[in-house]
Amino acid sequence: MTTIKKFVLITLIVCISTVKIFAQRDNHVILVIIDGARYSETLGDPLVRYVPRMYQLSQQGVVVDAMLNDNITFTKRAIPAIWCGSWSTPQDTVVNGFANQYATVPTVWEYFRKNRGVDSTHAMYIMKMLSSPWIQSFYYDYGQKYWPWYVLQGTTDLDVWQNAKSKLQMYHPELTVIYLPDVDSSPARGWSAYTQAIMIADSIVGMIWDFVQSDPVYQNTTTLLVTNDHGRHLDNIQDGFKSHGDNCLGCQHVMFLGVGVGMPKGVHTSTQRSIIDITPTIGSLLNFPTPYATGKTIMEIMTSVDSEILDKVSSNMIHLEQNYPNPFNPNTIIRFSLPKTAYVTLRIYDAVGRKVSQLLSQEMNAGSYQTEWNATGCASGVYFYRITVGDYAETKKFLLLK
Ligand SMILES: [Zn+2]
Ligand SMILES: [Zn+2]
Repeated sequence: MTTIKKFVLITLIVCISTVKIFAQRDNHVILVIIDGARYSETLGDPLVRYVPRMYQLSQQGVVVDAMLNDNITFTKRAIPAIWCGSWSTPQDTVVNGFANQYATVPTVWEYFRKNRGVDSTHAMYIMKMLSSPWIQSFYYDYGQKYWPWYVLQGTTDLDVWQNAKSKLQMYHPELTVIYLPDVDSSPARGWSAYTQAIMIADSIVGMIWDFVQSDPVYQNTTTLLVTNDHGRHLDNIQDGFKSHGDNCLGCQHVMFLGVGVGMPKGVHTSTQRSIIDITPTIGSLLNFPTPYATGKTIMEIMTSVDSEILDKVSSNMIHLEQNYPNPFNPNTIIRFSLPKTAYVTLRIYDAVGRKVSQLLSQEMNAGSYQTEWNATGCASGVYFYRITVGDYAETKKFLLLK
């Protein structure tokens, strides 16, 4: 049983902001990879228990809700996929007596440095001390002369941030990737170690953003992106968060947050994306080509490049609010507002993506609406509600507790 009430008649175009086209040169991108943090404990957590800073930043930036590792959910394949922009098979080699692997296609740093003709102080890869970090490609015309500066120091995520900060302050690289490994090594020590590591990673993202805001070079020229290489098994699969592997939603579903000069404010999209789309997106932000990447720029989150696409995104922008109450039993209210007349669907899905209910499928005028879902007959658990407005879509998660 669904009831729809139009409760505000005069709310119009509340969320369309002015579209700005940015000059893309001299911009900066900082990509943070939090290894092994599950979507459900990061931006997918409706209670925001572990990532308050990233949640706050997401309100000022963009979230891709359906960012997937859609291939191999293990670190050694997923990390290169993020920075190559494609799924490739790294090749075994030996460096300084340690087994290692190199990428078989060029990497984001190689594309950047070749395009700009700049040295490695402009393109850095910052992580903790590792004896044998995965290396870049030897691809014809790219390769070793375009590899990043590897900053390998310290033992913890906080060490990585301290070292990153000193390099950022000193050199202001245009392209920086900061790799935080601690979340991935924490599940063996239990749930509280896992969530603690996520909270520390969240605070580091907050400190990076605060630093960017306080730095005269980075301020207003920088886009901060945060993602994961893979998640972990859902609580009812194998040994839950302690392990990970292929073919499960918890391991495939990762987070993607973008905030800063290249990102519009408050755009949350549910268009499905892959982690291989990140390198082409960085190429679009910094204006360099990524010709061997098979991923595609995440156009729906860009404030630049193509004003037609921008118009489409902003004119379709909706406000989908978090349901209330949440958790709920059995009724909850979902509110949203439309900037213009559009064909709207509102559907409910269960945790594995099966459609449970369709609340709306009709043309609706601009305005604010609320609709109620009665979950009598449904089992306790996580559900999603997804609104589509034309070809724009947004999804939120909610919890039925009986
Ligand atoms: Zn990993
Ligand atoms: Zn899994």
